[in-house]
Amino acid sequence: MSATCLFCQIASGDIPATVVAENNLCMAFRDIGPQAPTHILVIPRKHYQSLNEMGDPQLAAALFQMAREVANAENIDDTGYRVVINTGREGGQSVDHLHLHVLGGRAMKWPPG
Ligand code: AMP
Repeated sequence: MSATCLFCQIASGDIPATVVAENNLCMAFRDIGPQAPTHILVIPRKHYQSLNEMGDPQLAAALFQMAREVANAENIDDTGYRVVINTGREGGQSVDHLHLHVLGGRAMKWPPG
C-alpha cells in the first residue's frame, strides 16, 4: 500500500467509493466522473503503479474476471462494453494505481481519442 495513493486509500476504506464488487485480490467501484452510463473501475488491492509493474498472472485473471462479473451485473454484457487500461503518460493514465475501466451503456467509437 502507498499511503499517498488515492486508490490504495479507496481499497483500505479511508476514502469512500461506491463499491460494486470485491474479493481478497481486487475491488470494483463507480468512477467519480463517468464517461458512459456504466463506468466502473476494477483495481487490485495491492499497489501497482501501472500494467508495466504487474506481472502476476493470477491477479490478471482475477481483474478480468471481476470486469466480466461487473459487466454482467450491470446488464451491459449482451449489448457490449469496453475494458480500458490507460498506461503511462501517453496512454492517458492519471491515477498511478493500476485500474481497468469498464465502460458501457452507449455505443463506443473507434479509434479512441
Ligand atoms: P485514468 O485517467 O485512466 O488514470 O483513470 C482514472 C480514473 O479515476 C478517472 O476516470 C477518474 O474519473 C477516476 N477517479 C478519480 N478519483 C476518483 C475517486 N475518488 N473515486 C472514483 N473514481 C475516481
